[in-house]
Amino acid sequence: MTLEITALKQRLDAIHNRLNIKGHMAAPKLIAVSKQQPDSRIAEALSAGVTVFGENRVQEAQMRWGETFSGQREALELHLIGPLQSNKAAQACVLFDAIHTLDRISLAKALAKLRDGGQDLPRLFVQVNTGEEEQKSGVLPRDLSEFLRVMETDYNLNVEGLMCIPPVDEAPSAHFMLLRTLARENGLSELSMGMSGDYETAAKLGASYVRVGSALFGARP
Ligand SMILES: *Cc1c(COP(=O)(O)O)cnc(C)c1O
Repeated sequence: MTLEITALKQRLDAIHNRLNIKGHMAAPKLIAVSKQQPDSRIAEALSAGVTVFGENRVQEAQMRWGETFSGQREALELHLIGPLQSNKAAQACVLFDAIHTLDRISLAKALAKLRDGGQDLPRLFVQVNTGEEEQKSGVLPRDLSEFLRVMETDYNLNVEGLMCIPPVDEAPSAHFMLLRTLARENGLSELSMGMSGDYETAAKLGASYVRVGSALFGARP
């Protein structure tokens, strides 16, 4: 093992230790957010045994997992955690196992059309704009129940869970608690929440997936 792989493995173990909260519910699954990281670091993560990766751009993910590391793709689980344009939905459905950013009717329409054409759909999470931020995508908390109803009855889409990105200038715990409440109210089991700075808090508040980039790979260059 090279020094770099050993160091990454140590960071990975440290994160897993912090996710395994004693006497608590099952630890969340770790999504290694590989966006913008150099190929050398991705190779190290693969050597260290990481099998679940997250990307925020379809194009970049296609280059990495459809080309550079396509040989390993089959053994991996890929999550799209960034915004998805409807015109890239077809490509995303082929590449990803899960989409965390279903956030509008037009995207649901595009996904349903692909499904009706015979495409298997990835697992679906709805992004919720818990901070009601102007510049952030996601369904507003007050609109969520109706949005989920439309997903089910109009588009026959099976939504598994919710995802949020708290505002940078606020304590994340209130947002994680809101997301958990919304999931419970709507009968959803999966919660995608927590990043490098707050994954431990998210784990304590019931995350089923945490999305960790820089704490695992180092800062994005
Ligand atoms: C970049 C990104 C992450 C990972 O961020 P880090 O702070 O590097 O852990 C998690 N979730 C989303 C949606 C992201 O875009």
